[in-house]
Amino acid sequence: MEHSDSYQAMLDAVQVFHDKHDFKNKGGEEMTYRMALMAEELGEIGACVTKGKPKEQLAEETADLFILLIGTAISADFDLKQAFWQKMDKIMQRESKMVNGRIRVSEFRK
Ligand SMILES: [Mg+2]
Repeated sequence: MEHSDSYQAMLDAVQVFHDKHDFKNKGGEEMTYRMALMAEELGEIGACVTKGKPKEQLAEETADLFILLIGTAISADFDLKQAFWQKMDKIMQRESKMVNGRIRVSEFRK
């Protein structure tokens, strides 16, 4: 199955999913509920890593979270693509440091 690379195509697909089940009028776009769903999917990603599950399963759980993230942008009505690039530009300017043996990119404010 071939799909478009564009964020707009992903956003449209998630919007169709929300519309199909009427998330807007049935609590599916309530932020507290969405936080719980996102935490659940993050937990499933964590289980893949800690239990050494196959890469395909990690990819599927990461996709679950990604779909939720796009859906959260729909629910809270913000432009995730714009926010992504704004933040990407910002973090590309940041310094990195080794912290406890691992690279960390942050503002490192004092
Ligand atoms: Mg999942």
